[in-house]
Order: sequence, then C-alpha cells, then structure tokens
Amino acid sequence: MTRDPRYDVLFEPVRIGPVKAPNRFYQVPHCNGSGNLRPRMVAEMRGIKAEGGWGVVCTEYCSIHPSSDDLPHPNASLWNQADIKAHALMTEKVHEFGALAGVELWAGGAGSANLLTREVALGVGNMPNLAGHPFQTRAMDLKDIRNLRRWHLEAALRARDAGFDIVYIYATHFYLLAQFLSPQHNHRTDEYGGSVANRVRLVRELIEETKDAIGDTCAVAVRMSADDGIGTPEQPVSDERREMFELLAELPDLWDVNIYNYEHEMGVSRFIQEGSLEKTMYYVKSITSKPVVTVGRFTSPDTMVSQVRRGIVDFIGAARPSIADPFLPRKIEEGRMEEIRECIGCNICYTGDSLSVPIRCTQNPTMGEEWRRGWHPERIAPKSNDATVLVVGAGPAGLEATRALGQRGYNVFLAEASTELGGRVAQECRLPGLAEWGRVVDYRVQMIQTMPNVDVFLDNHLSADDALSIGAEHIVVATGAKWRADGYGRYHNKPCLDIGPAEQVFTPNDIFTGRVPQGRALVFDDDHYYMGSVLTEALVAQGIEVCFVTPENLVSAWGAMTDEQYQTQQRLIQLGVQIITAHGLDEFDGTSARLSCVYTQRTRLVSADAVVLVTARIPKDGLYREIAGKLESEPSESALTLDKIGDCDAPAIIAAAVYAGHRYARELGSDMEKSEVVRQDRLFDPD
Ligand code: ADP
Ligand code: SF4
Repeated sequence: MTRDPRYDVLFEPVRIGPVKAPNRFYQVPHCNGSGNLRPRMVAEMRGIKAEGGWGVVCTEYCSIHPSSDDLPHPNASLWNQADIKAHALMTEKVHEFGALAGVELWAGGAGSANLLTREVALGVGNMPNLAGHPFQTRAMDLKDIRNLRRWHLEAALRARDAGFDIVYIYATHFYLLAQFLSPQHNHRTDEYGGSVANRVRLVRELIEETKDAIGDTCAVAVRMSADDGIGTPEQPVSDERREMFELLAELPDLWDVNIYNYEHEMGVSRFIQEGSLEKTMYYVKSITSKPVVTVGRFTSPDTMVSQVRRGIVDFIGAARPSIADPFLPRKIEEGRMEEIRECIGCNICYTGDSLSVPIRCTQNPTMGEEWRRGWHPERIAPKSNDATVLVVGAGPAGLEATRALGQRGYNVFLAEASTELGGRVAQECRLPGLAEWGRVVDYRVQMIQTMPNVDVFLDNHLSADDALSIGAEHIVVATGAKWRADGYGRYHNKPCLDIGPAEQVFTPNDIFTGRVPQGRALVFDDDHYYMGSVLTEALVAQGIEVCFVTPENLVSAWGAMTDEQYQTQQRLIQLGVQIITAHGLDEFDGTSARLSCVYTQRTRLVSADAVVLVTARIPKDGLYREIAGKLESEPSESALTLDKIGDCDAPAIIAAAVYAGHRYARELGSDMEKSEVVRQDRLFDPD
C-alpha cells in the first residue's frame, strides 16, 4: 500500500538549526518509569519508536546535576561518564533508523526534593516543595546561578558526547526555569527578578551558552508554556507571556510549546479532547521563524495535516500516541490506516512514573517489554505448529489473544456469549467520557476481520462440553469477572450481610444493563479508581440524586496515578454530588445507610433509597473449572492445554487483560519457562 498524497506534508524533512529531521513526527520528551534506573529498557523502547518512523525521539527529563533528583519518580541524568554511556545506548538505536535523538536537560527547583541525593534543592526563592514533601528550596544567590549555568553547560557537552542531536532548555512544568519566568513564583529583586526581561534572563543565558558550546553540531530547543496561569479561560495568554516569547523568539532552533495546566496538557480523554492545546498555543508560530512543536494526543492524520497547513505547528508532537503505537508514522506512510492503534487517553502509561515502575500501556502490551521480554510491537514469532486454539470470551483479554494468535498464524475460534465484541470495554465505553476507550475493541476487531485463519462466533455461550467438542488443541478461557453485590472489598474483608434489600442494591453490572436505582442513590466506592465516579456521573445524568461515599480521603484516590484525581473530584463537586470521604458503608436497610468514620468509628446515618456497590469483582471462572474437572476425570488423548487469562483469572485494569491476552499468544508453544523470559535491567554499570 502507498501513502495517501494528502499526508505528504507530514513526511517532509524539516531543518532544526544544524540538524535535519527526516519528517514531522516528533516524540516529545516523556517519562517512562525507568529513567536512569533501567537504561537498556529505555534505549530499546526509544529505538523502536525510531524504527516506527518517529523522526525525532527524545528522552524523559534528564537531570543536569545531583541537586535535581526526582526519585521516587525516575528521571534520566547526565551527571558523569557512566550516564554518557547509558544514553549512547539510546542515541545509537535512534540513529540506526535515521531519526534524531533529543535530550531534555532538567533542573528541578522546587519540583524536586532530592530524596536520593539529599542535596539541598535550589529555587528562585525559598519555596516549599511543590510535590508536598516537607522541604524548601534554598533561594539561589548569584553564585548559585553561576553554578547552575556551569552545570547546564557541562551537561550539554555530555549530551553532545552521548550523541544527541537536540538539546533542550526545559523552562516549563513548574520546574526551576519555569519558576524564574513565573510572575507568581519569582519575587527576586536582583537582575533575575521583576521585569519580564529580568525574568527571562536565565533562560536567555542558557540558550546562548548552550548554542555557543554545542550549537554547531546540536540544535538547541526550548520547552516553554504558551500561557503562565494568570490569564482567563477566554484569554488564557497574558500580555507578558507573549512578550517573553517575543524576547526569545529567534534564539533557540526549535520551540516545544505546551501549556501551564499539566492536568489539561496530558489530561485523560474523559476530560480533555484531541488537539486541545491549540486554543492556547496557536499564536507562537506568528512570533518566531523557528520550527514549533506541540502535543495534543494526535492520532488522526487529518488533524495532523490541518495543524501543519493552518500554521499552528511544524512538527506533530506526541508522547501518548507514540506509546500506544510506536509505528504510527510508518502506518500512515504505508497507507495502513486501519492498523493504527490509537491512544485511548487513559493515562495508564503515566502510572509508571507515578509508581516508579516501567511504563505500560493499555493499547500497546509490548510497551516497557521491548528489552525485558524482547517483545516488538509489530513482530511476533510465527506459530510453532498447526494447532487450533479456542478462545472463549471477547473482552480485551480474549480479543488481544485472538489478534496476536491470528498474527502468529494459528487457526483461532473466538466464541463470545453476547451479541457484541468487547466485553467490559464495550460496556464501559458507553459511560460518560469513556467513548475513546472503545478503540481497544475497534483496533483488535479491525485486525481480526482481515485474518482468514480466525473465526468469530457471536451469541455463543459455551458450556464445558461445547468447548471440548470443538476439538481445539488449546483452550483459553477469557470469560471476565462481575462486580460483587455483597459489599466485600477493601473495607469489608468478608461479605457484609447488613446491606439489603436486594432489589435496592445495585452493582456496576446492573447500571451497564440498564437496571438503575429509583430515588436517592448512595454510591459506595471502595475501588478508588474511575468506576465509582464515572457511574456517579452517569446516574446524575439520568436525574438521580447521588451521595458518594468512600473510605479514602479523596474521590477516586488512585486516579492520582493517572493524574485525573483532581478533575474527577472537581467534576463531582460541580455536579452537586454530596461527597462523604473517610467513611465506610456498614449497613443499609432500604431507607437509610449507616456509615462509620475510618478514623474514629463514629457513625452517621444518611438517607438513601438505593446503594450502588463499587467494591470488588468475582472472576467468572466457572467454565474454566468445569473444563479442568472434565479433563481431570477423562484425560484427553490429544495434548490439550487449558489456560485462563484476564479478569476471569484475576480482575484488574483493562491494560492487564490486554497484556494477559498478548502474553498468552506470545508464549503458546514456547519451550521457555515463563519466568526465564524476563530479563532484569539492573542499574547500569558500563565499566
Ligand atoms: P477480560 O477483561 O478479562 O477480557 P471481559 O469481562 O471484558 O473480560 O470479557 C469477558 C467476555 O467473555 C464477555 O464478553 C462475556 O460475554 C464472555 N463470556 C463469558 N462467559 C462466556 C461463555 N461461557 N462463553 C462465551 N463467552 C463468554
Ligand atoms: Fe494512551 Fe492509555 Fe496507552 Fe497511555 S496507556 S498511551 S493514555 S492508551
């Protein structure tokens, strides 16, 4: 297949100072939960993006000096010779495929508490740590500023030696340089504070010094936000922020522009749509002749072309779309549009950074496993024999297992009890704000439809006898899970018998199938991720008054890992939902609920006509156990294997179900002990 000429503009090379990008696809810096802890994993992951056609591939934030360390959130670093060697692993891989490698040099300021290095963090003033740690920065004096400039310069030289083509001055996301620019944080009275010219002084000096030192071989990029948080929703960009861009306009070789509000910039699709930064950053290209890049969770090539043609950007910046599909550019180039695995905007990728573990992705189960397990997002070993595989259940686990087994060339029968494919995803994507999650199903169904070796049977609820009678050599059960109606969860460690009557008790599965409460509903969220709050929103949309109760201190507390907690709580407050935190549900009698405070055990009564229990799920593994029992009593003559995957094995996030399906497909017929497949990327010691 060939490329649609409409998209030709995306494949034009673009000069960035002394270097040239082969196309307009630009993977902006993004964290990955590994940083300098697991450099081989990072190098392989970034290299695969270059292979997939990204013309520029950048690192995550990269500390210039031990006075900027962000652990437990893993950052990269360029402190010494060992760091140079570690980064060279990545730049070599990126160059192998003709892409440019960029590094985002980073000084943390009040954003980093230096919990590893125990260095005192340096700040524009004496600022409290912005992540809430009980530390403050030292107000930088002029000697500190001179030191910082020297450290930045030394890191830039190391970056060049590591093979980078683009070196960033990172002046956004609330870190040190952004604090110097900020009218809210910079209260200095010396030549680095006060006027706009004074506040941009440090950034200007860093640009000039970096260009002087390495500007003949490396491009110098500046990452800065288009607004500064003091504008209004109608007019987000203040006059002085414009003035800052005007003062610096022609100094760097490239502008990487984002916005002040991070939760918006990388917001989940529940709250933020594709291309939403444009209304704030639209003006930057009119101020500079240098190339401009921004992000916007772009997955549609038409939107990308429109951004370029309308003069908003020169490069299509992406973090998440490049994670969900490292081969997105190649697929556009080769006219394989239906093979694009579109990001769903769930931000599970961000949990790697939040939790200090390697990045994972709901749509792309190979993300973070490129080096560790040797998984490639597009390539998979061909089948090892002519066996037939029966997959039971077409949720995310069953669909991904089917897709990947089909790609390997196995004959696959996929049986699904209901009349649609997608399982829990098909149901959940109908909830408010979750429509994009349907892409998990769309991508897999599109791929399966092209596979002559895969047969799909809808409306086929299989019994154990049905499953065995098909005669497949391998059976994999992916029959999912259902929400519990007995209150069991984190708060009640056994079923709570005081919750009734049954006709006034609801679970998410009831709401999915249209059985909704009458009167005032109490949503008891002991799950702490999105389901409790999304269902609350769905009920409010149907005119139902809701009281939201959680034993946690915040609404959807785990949403902090995906950076959506704040917006979630804000949404429920705006909807007029009564929110009761730090309370458990002890009893419900049909008219009122007894709650107790998790700290004092003091009780209170809340009137309610119904309760919706969002607590825990029960695996639907009956079919698996029945087949296993039959095989035990009447062993099959063929070497039949039986497995269970996804939520019917252990209920978890959608990403875990997709991963389980993929892993099953990868490992079928493999001789390797599963545990031997994983490589450990310990701290890098190149010497
Ligand atoms: P997962 O997240 O693990 O993929 P889901 O709950 O999303 O699980 O999907 C499970 C799917 O399995 C549902 O679509 C359900 O209709 C289907 N299913 C459950 N039991 C059977 C069965 N006995 N035969 C065929 N399909 C089944
Ligand atoms: Fe997109 Fe979700 Fe994958 Fe992140 S985890 S890249 S948001 S699909």
